[in-house]
Amino acid sequence: MTNSLNITPESSPKPAPVAGQSSAHVPNANIATNVLNTTHAFAQVKANDWSVEKSAKVYGINNWGNGYFRINQNGNVAVTPKGEKGPGVDLYELTQELQDRGIRIPIMIRFPDIIKERVELLHSCFQKAFADHNYKGQYCGVYPIKVNQQRHLVQELVKYGKDLRLGLEAGSKPELLIVLSLMNTPNAVIICNGFKDTEYIETALLAQKIGREIVIVVDRKDELKIITETAKKLNMRPKIGFRAKLNTQGAGKWVDSAGARSKFGLTSIEIVEGLEFLKQQNMLDCLELLHYHIGSQVPSIQSIKSSLKEAARFYTELHALGAKLKYIDVGGGLGVDYDGTGSSDSSVNYSEQEYANDVVSTLQTLCDEKGVPHPNIITEAGRSLVAHHSVLVFNVMGVNNLYRAEPPIPATKKDPSIMQELQYTFEKLTKENINECFNDLLQSKNETLNLFTYGVLNLTQRAWCESMFFTIATKILTLAQSTPDCEDIVSELRTVLCDTYFCNFSVFQSVPDSWAVGQLFPVMPIHNLKEEPCHEATLADLTCDSDGKIEKFIDTESGEVKKTLRVHPYAEGQAPYYLAVFLTGAYQEILGDLHNLFGDTDAVHISIHESGYTVDHYVPGDTVTEVLTYVQYGRAEMVDNVRQYTEESINNGNITKQEAKALIKHYEEGLSGYTYLEEME
Ligand SMILES: *Cc1c(COP(=O)(O)O)cnc(C)c1O
Repeated sequence: MTNSLNITPESSPKPAPVAGQSSAHVPNANIATNVLNTTHAFAQVKANDWSVEKSAKVYGINNWGNGYFRINQNGNVAVTPKGEKGPGVDLYELTQELQDRGIRIPIMIRFPDIIKERVELLHSCFQKAFADHNYKGQYCGVYPIKVNQQRHLVQELVKYGKDLRLGLEAGSKPELLIVLSLMNTPNAVIICNGFKDTEYIETALLAQKIGREIVIVVDRKDELKIITETAKKLNMRPKIGFRAKLNTQGAGKWVDSAGARSKFGLTSIEIVEGLEFLKQQNMLDCLELLHYHIGSQVPSIQSIKSSLKEAARFYTELHALGAKLKYIDVGGGLGVDYDGTGSSDSSVNYSEQEYANDVVSTLQTLCDEKGVPHPNIITEAGRSLVAHHSVLVFNVMGVNNLYRAEPPIPATKKDPSIMQELQYTFEKLTKENINECFNDLLQSKNETLNLFTYGVLNLTQRAWCESMFFTIATKILTLAQSTPDCEDIVSELRTVLCDTYFCNFSVFQSVPDSWAVGQLFPVMPIHNLKEEPCHEATLADLTCDSDGKIEKFIDTESGEVKKTLRVHPYAEGQAPYYLAVFLTGAYQEILGDLHNLFGDTDAVHISIHESGYTVDHYVPGDTVTEVLTYVQYGRAEMVDNVRQYTEESINNGNITKQEAKALIKHYEEGLSGYTYLEEME
């Protein structure tokens, strides 16, 4: 088609004769109302063509779900910490029952049973690798609390890790204070990382005197002197670690955590000098540990192996120089398969067992070569222990829907030819000419915009064209879904007709990495999964920030990232529609911020057992008043101000006393309420 108003004979069909139109009819006058008549058609195939297995495939839940999440025969997401055979809970029913108890959506639901599984899994992977390789050292898992410092969670980790001697890692002074109060597991290691001042170091050293196995890792060379001097003052032998700055880099989004220019760690020069210094101080035996960390979410096992080889050489060389270290601390980085592809930055190309095997076999080989005893292995896996355990459930509040069942008022010969062409396409469309009509449709879109820009179409006419465009697209999609070989058209039109689902949550508060580093998280509806999710949508959050949206989803078929999520049709006033973001247990909560003053969500801890579940803890989310105090607003003063303004208006006769009372009531209730949208009681 051309951009001119003339219909060229070879490329454009003749406008169809329009029935029932008097020539005196002026369509434009009526179009506006018709355009606003938003009737939605839900192009849907028969429900019995669909199955929960198909839903599982669309969302990839059996890949990223790791056995902890699946779809049950009711078409709801089930949480099964011990896999299919173990006990489970229906996430949709749970969501409803939590709301019955007055817990408000969005809800962060934590499953401590999954934490237990993760702690035991990593431990058993190392035990198996030790047995297979006849490795002589011991395994000491350590949880870096920066990944999620929430008290109940850390307590659960300590509890489940007690028999496995799971230790904790602190990356700052406040974190050390948490660690000292929450853990007294005998022989569990405490690792002190991060920037340290004298106070931090002195606290750590004194904690050694109350029986903690505490290792202070030298991250910057200046710290070594403070440690040795403070220890002498306290008349004790410190346990010291060196963090090596490796040359080998990790991979993925956090690749800059290692390498010569990384923030922390000692260069080879500094390590040799540090060793000399300790010798002079007669404290070489205090050097017990070598640490390194190549960054988080390392997607490839090759990076893990090559960094470990370099670190293992540091280890054996330190032995050769006389430092009889006991531990190698391989840091964090053990990744989580967020998208189930096994091949992207949001995924990993190795299992926990392969990780353990490679760590153990590499160390064994290099130590045996040099005749150095096998070190005890410390891992600082954080993400891998806690990512799976929490799920954010939220509801859809509204939808921007482009589907249209009803065409606008028919175009006539007096209308611009683009309108007549669209009218013709709409009328001639059948199963037989889907392709042709689809191509016409795609062309008409640009043409409409051009004609509007050139001043040929007025706004009402443009609105008519867009309305007809979406009507035709809806009709083509409906036909194409039941026509063979139209999969491409179906998927393209679903994207064209992509809805925006307005969701009751804040990306910045609950999945900040989705915004900050473009990380992908699994998102899917938690119910209706026996029916085909036949719409595509992007998700917009409650903030007024245009970045507050999720537009990155898993495409399990291609393994690529796609911009829209398959969803079920939603219309306002309909039954609630719940979506969830999964695997949000690592980093998201503590990195979350108060953008637009959306605070912490309500959170619950749910234990699952054979006979059902129990709500172990309910942690209420922030009230508006709490959030406002972070930005220095006081409730009493705010209420008092508004009260004074209403008094003035009462005196002026602008507001009645009853109205003023209602305003103050709303104001006070608003301050006590949830920061998210609440259903009217
Ligand atoms: C953040 C951090 C970790 C945790 O990394 P994960 O990838 O979450 O396992 C471990 N060690 C150090 C030093 C860290 O800074």
